Amino acid sequence: MTPQILLRGTGVFPDVGVGRVVLLNNSQVIRELIPFYCVLEEEVHDEVERFLKAVETTKQEIEELKTSMAEKLSASHLAIFDAHLLVLDDSMLMNRTIDHIKKHKHNAEHAFHTIMNELLKQFSGLEDAYLKEKSEDLHDISSRVIHNLMHKDKLKEIDTIVITEPTVLVAQVIHPSDLKLLSNPNVVGIATDLGGKTTHTAIIAKALELPAVVGLHDVTTRVTDGEIIVVDGAEGQVLLSPSEEEARFYRRKHEMRLQLMDELKSLSELQSITTDGTAVRLLANIELEEESEKAQFFNADGIGLYRSEFIFLTVAPSLPTEEQHFSVYKRLIKEIKGEIVIRTLDLGGEKFFHEVLETFSQQNPVLGLRAVRFCMKRKDIFRTQLRAILRASALSDRVRLMFPLISGVDELKSVLQFLNTVKNELDKEKIDYNHNLKTGIMIEVPAAAAIPDLLAEYVDFFSIGTNDLIQYFLAIDRTNDEVNYLYQPLHPGLIRTLRDIFRIGKERSVKVSVCGEMAGNPRFTLLLLGLGLREFSMTPSSIPVIKKIVNSVSLASCEALVTEVLSMEASKEIEAFVTEKNREIIPEFDRILKSLF
Ligand code: PEP
Ligand code: MG
Repeated sequence: MTPQILLRGTGVFPDVGVGRVVLLNNSQVIRELIPFYCVLEEEVHDEVERFLKAVETTKQEIEELKTSMAEKLSASHLAIFDAHLLVLDDSMLMNRTIDHIKKHKHNAEHAFHTIMNELLKQFSGLEDAYLKEKSEDLHDISSRVIHNLMHKDKLKEIDTIVITEPTVLVAQVIHPSDLKLLSNPNVVGIATDLGGKTTHTAIIAKALELPAVVGLHDVTTRVTDGEIIVVDGAEGQVLLSPSEEEARFYRRKHEMRLQLMDELKSLSELQSITTDGTAVRLLANIELEEESEKAQFFNADGIGLYRSEFIFLTVAPSLPTEEQHFSVYKRLIKEIKGEIVIRTLDLGGEKFFHEVLETFSQQNPVLGLRAVRFCMKRKDIFRTQLRAILRASALSDRVRLMFPLISGVDELKSVLQFLNTVKNELDKEKIDYNHNLKTGIMIEVPAAAAIPDLLAEYVDFFSIGTNDLIQYFLAIDRTNDEVNYLYQPLHPGLIRTLRDIFRIGKERSVKVSVCGEMAGNPRFTLLLLGLGLREFSMTPSSIPVIKKIVNSVSLASCEALVTEVLSMEASKEIEAFVTEKNREIIPEFDRILKSLF
């Protein structure tokens, strides 16, 4: 019997899929098959024509794909196709290929492949995650054009792959031109060698709600066509050669998830309130504008975190204009019923960089020029966004402004001073904005978490970003296998810090919410409630499960849990205790966890 192998990567959409592998063309396959020969002087003209024709055919295919996907994808996803068309319209790229054919008399496939590779090499030498992502697009275009130049029967023709049984697509990367295939109902999962949370594969998998694990490094070399594998997007892992029993277990898990989601959806009309009458607000974190539909679907009380950096991704390689910012905020105001917390640009760290925004590489980007630090350096970019948010605030008093990664009072004061400068500019131009716009900060730097009393003097609200706070607080790189066992959200130091922030918030009437992943994880709901949290902001699809938990517990039992936890000295002990209490207080707890994680 083949032994099982578990590959670890980054989970994208938290569902499980079990299916047969269809290995999509990857660049290795293409490289092996690309023909290389010389043409005669009198054949050069025809060779150039053949190249131009293949480019035209590719453009037509992309247009057709775009049309066929128009109903399934939102405008911003469809824009990916426009980016591809732009590359094919790039005269420098086309001319360099034509020059290569003319000068070296090489066949068109080889010439184009050589030029694209030169470009891709330049990209891969850069630290910039955004440009690395762009290289996925170049791979995609390169293989499409070469595909059209070659006899198609030599390669697996993606558009004609027939999928009739549960299938997992495995590839180096999933290209936007594979989208048609992805929307086949028999595709139950995706596994890729490359990619991270913000790459196109991830964004599209999330939009189509497909279980996906990206960044597996070498999954394409570990699997063969037709074998059965398991993609576990919740745990970020792929299981090769599962036993019959394991395959059954994971299929069942998928069914349980569907069933649970169905049941939970029926809760959406209910208010979230503990059994002893404490109302709790459940808000949504959104990244893509169209996720506001999901927020409405799950009946979120508002948007607790709008990650505005995705506006930058959508319009890249240009920078968003004030109007582009404004129109996104305006649409959110129209669609969302509650408050809308717009977080200013938080680019950097592990998030994508932008060529225009970041022209040098940093030794340690997570500790480097990111978020407000970057904005205060590029005040032109900051001003454009602040003007748009201020203008949007005139449309509704539900708009909130939030600054990420604030580390201390001096920094906060200089950011607020710049906000005032921008307000004065608007005053001079007689442009209206809400003069009482509520302004807050994210608490995600340990130094800020230690001085909530001092920071509270200057803002209306805090939102605790536990994702960053935990990694900075515990000095743990979660992606480093050697140390990730130390990534412990239940570290007593962190719990005490949270307790102090909630206490200070209450004393100073500064509203405190949590918008890191902890807020949407049912394991931590009782603890956070007991510590004093009344406003949770999370991925929209987590709202029903957190509501179910809130509605099944009393605040008194959560507070009793916290009293015990605060007397404990080690994360492991706290974890065991909290798990036991979760089971005791919420009879369905194990079922919920089994279905979701
Ligand atoms: C956080 O750090 O917890 C957070 C919500 O911000 P982001 O994940 O966007 O860095
Ligand atoms: Mg953060």
